[in-house]
Parts: sequence; structure tokens; C-alpha cells
Amino acid sequence: MIYVYESHTGGYYTTDEPLPDEALYCEECGDSDVFLGKAETNEEAERIMRRRELDMYDDSDRVDAALEEMSEALDDISVTLQKLSEAINDLRKDI
Ligand SMILES: [Zn+2]
Repeated sequence: MIYVYESHTGGYYTTDEPLPDEALYCEECGDSDVFLGKAETNEEAERIMRRRELDMYDDSDRVDAALEEMSEALDDISVTLQKLSEAINDLRKDI
């Protein structure tokens, strides 16, 4: 299991074992690192970091909306391609 943390000084790190709270706390500045989540694979760990990155800028809703829009646009394109392909087939029949 991979444990994903965000460092209070910036950036991310991972550990194989969960860290105790006192290990997260920094006595020098009184700030703490943040546990972000557990992952099974490195890819999943990176997703957790990226997700955090998006949350920090509070853009996740906008990203979700943009992804949805893109997906709808792709649907439109695929309908258009389907129509084009049908039109080409019709043309071929006429030749
Ligand atoms: Zn510190």
C-alpha cells in the first residue's frame, strides 16, 4: 500500500507505511503535513496528488464541467462522422 502525503513545505511524498501524527507535525513552524490518501499503485498515488492539486485551486468543478462539455462535443463529432459516412455510402450507391 502507498500512503500519499502533502508536505507543509510544498510538494508531495509517499511512504509504504502510514506515518504517526507526530511524524507529520513540524516543530519548527508548527505546521503539519497532510495525509491525502492510500493508493495501490503509483498511478493511483499520482492521481491523488493531481486531484489535490485541482482541489487547491478549487478548479475541480470547472474541470468536471469542461470534461463533460468535451465528452458531449465528442458525441456530436461521432454523430457527424456517422452521418458523413452514411452520406458517402449513399454517394457510392449513386455512382
Ligand atoms: Zn516546518
